[in-house]
Amino acid sequence: MSPSTVDGYAAMAMGQALEPLSYPAPPLGEHDVRVAISHCGVCFTDIQGIDDFYGITGFPFVPGHEIVGHVEALGREVTGLAEGDRVGIGWQGRSCERCAWCVQGEEQLCQDIAEMGTWERHGGFASSVTVDGRFAFPLPEAMAPEVAAVLMCAGVSVYSPLRACATGSGLRVGILGVGGLGHLAIQFAHALGCEVTALSSSPAKEQEAITFGADQFVVTGDRARMRSIDYAFDLVLCTAHGAIDWEELLMTLRKRGRLVLVGFPEVSMNPTDIVAHELSITGSFLGNRTKMREMLPFARDHGITPRVEQLPMAQVNEAIRRLKENLARYRIVLNNGMG
Ligand SMILES: [Zn+2]
Ligand SMILES: [Zn+2]
Repeated sequence: MSPSTVDGYAAMAMGQALEPLSYPAPPLGEHDVRVAISHCGVCFTDIQGIDDFYGITGFPFVPGHEIVGHVEALGREVTGLAEGDRVGIGWQGRSCERCAWCVQGEEQLCQDIAEMGTWERHGGFASSVTVDGRFAFPLPEAMAPEVAAVLMCAGVSVYSPLRACATGSGLRVGILGVGGLGHLAIQFAHALGCEVTALSSSPAKEQEAITFGADQFVVTGDRARMRSIDYAFDLVLCTAHGAIDWEELLMTLRKRGRLVLVGFPEVSMNPTDIVAHELSITGSFLGNRTKMREMLPFARDHGITPRVEQLPMAQVNEAIRRLKENLARYRIVLNNGMG
């Protein structure tokens, strides 16, 4: 491979399996870094991107946005990074720097966010990626690359809303879904001093959910158990993307409780309880750069560790199949065999 050519895996059209694709490395802007990729996690939104769920995908599409690698080239204006530095990159690879949200440091809300994804135009299932250096984050030394990779999207996406809500200890939190995001959310919520209940449709995940730090585990769809947690939570973090019984879920919130969506499930809710119980339903998207910088040492200090299966990058379609069939335990990270 010549550094001017990138070897990636692309969906050539909507919904298709990925296939090898070589393309010229993008020109290196003054503020850009080019990162030689060693690891890249597989996130459910990669699959939704391939399926053009968001209506923003351009093909050929190289997904991948939980990236770890080494800086191999820098633009002239990049500060704070040097060639050879080990960095992590998440979903956001750029920001406009001009809109009101960027100016106040909430770049994840950038008005032009749809064009700012790391996979725009080509993402991390590849030999290298080029992003704005401000979105390449130096990693704590001792952190394993496959761990750091998963923290870059799944990690910050659950840390950010939990951190915002868990201002004191003892917040009662329900985590819906014990998968890629959920198994990290349990760990972060526990480390933030919350009382954590894991909610999952898979009874088999109980023991591991407790190991991750859940105080209790409830199988969704078990009516008697679900009734026992009516009005139990200040906050429910929804990390699931399958079919969700919203009526059952909203009943677990205390009055004036809050439901935060961090995945992209189908949503259909009866307004009665939302209004009568004065519930808040919000979304939370990634995290800003401050949250990203704060999350990495927090994860290291609290021993927060994603459970990872590694596969060679060439097996990307197998990774996607496992994720689609809900077989990943709990996150799959692809590696380029660079250690
Ligand atoms: Zn993601
Ligand atoms: Zn902006």
